[in-house]
Amino acid sequence: MVRVRLRNPDRVEQLEGALTVGELLDRLDINPATVLVICAGSLVTADHQLGDADEVEIRPVISGGAGGPTCVVCRRAAVIEEPRHRAAWCPTHFVDHVHNQIRKAIDHPQASPSRERMFSYADRILVAVSGGKDSLALWDVLLDLGYRADGLYIGLGIGGYSRRSQQICEDFAAARGARLHVVDLAETYGYSTVTGSQATTRSTCGVCGLSKRYVFNRVAVEHGYDAVATGHNLDDEAATLLGNVLRWHDDFLARQRPVLPAMGTNQVRKCKPLYRLSEREMAAYCVIRGIDYVVEECPLVDGNTGHEHKNILNALERAAPGAKAQFLFGFLDRHDRFGEADRDGDAPVVGACTRCAMPTVGEVCAFCRQRERILAALPVLSGATAAPTHPTTGS
Ligand code: AMP
Ligand code: ZN
Ligand code: ZN
Repeated sequence: MVRVRLRNPDRVEQLEGALTVGELLDRLDINPATVLVICAGSLVTADHQLGDADEVEIRPVISGGAGGPTCVVCRRAAVIEEPRHRAAWCPTHFVDHVHNQIRKAIDHPQASPSRERMFSYADRILVAVSGGKDSLALWDVLLDLGYRADGLYIGLGIGGYSRRSQQICEDFAAARGARLHVVDLAETYGYSTVTGSQATTRSTCGVCGLSKRYVFNRVAVEHGYDAVATGHNLDDEAATLLGNVLRWHDDFLARQRPVLPAMGTNQVRKCKPLYRLSEREMAAYCVIRGIDYVVEECPLVDGNTGHEHKNILNALERAAPGAKAQFLFGFLDRHDRFGEADRDGDAPVVGACTRCAMPTVGEVCAFCRQRERILAALPVLSGATAAPTHPTTGS
């Protein structure tokens, strides 16, 4: 065993076997031109044979470049630091870190009363992809980990932003040989986020959110998927939590969990495998993996309180790294305090919507009610049928 002392930062490595100094530097991926190697007080050259009990010091000689953060795993130069983990990583080990966090989220999701995994390798997963960094990174990781994951892109009719997002999702799917479902809201349901919001007094985000949640579930049901996965990350979930706490939305708090089991028929389990990873980590993952994503924000979001809450949490995080994760994970660890109707036995009875057969607690589901209001106000666009099936296009 050769003991090797490295500098900047100071650390010790143990290496197996008899080897030359040149082989040692090779194994540690160190350029011989940037260091001196010292053995028993003397300088040694690359051909010097090291014995089992030898101790060597590798001393950097290039000034100015040293002292940068190094990877916590392999000590090579780091490309990203995360104060929350008091860690920095090289590209390879950062990808491992992202995989590990997602693995942990899938296998041991917090606030899962039955302690069940989000999904298994046997399950068919529908990943809702927006073309943004989070959902494409999620799809990429699930495919890499060997899960059966297809994509779903919903065309929301937000002009060039929607067209660019769709193209990026299609290119990603083609490059990975993965299946992508595409549902265009206007073609299938007769309205877009923009016209739907104009026709009602609802905000664009309100119309959009309800439509997306409905289509995720409906496509999953119609194509027999076991779970829907979305790209909600740590920042999204912490901001939602702050909003729910500020308004003491007990019912929303009860339902804010990384995995929501299906309730009743025609409902598919919903999962958020990125809830342990920050926005910044997801962006870094995409850059490292060369994933092209839509960097621009949805042009309709301004004035969204979610962004305010994210800013506040980022200010806290800056002063106290880890605050955001503590806030969210701490909540999830004591989630049972936020009594859930279905666990108290007085859960509302979930039945089937009389228009579309999707689950609802009333007679007509919120989506169908919203759609009927929109189409009544937009007669020109009401060509679509009342209970359409999905003409999804896919590769
Ligand atoms: P957002 O509601 O825009 O913050 O997005 C949250 C998650 O919803 C994303 O990470 C995606 O998984 C999914 N999503 C958003 N927009 C779309 C879309 N147009 N098509 C499919 N999934 C989407
Ligand atoms: Zn490394
Ligand atoms: Zn309905």
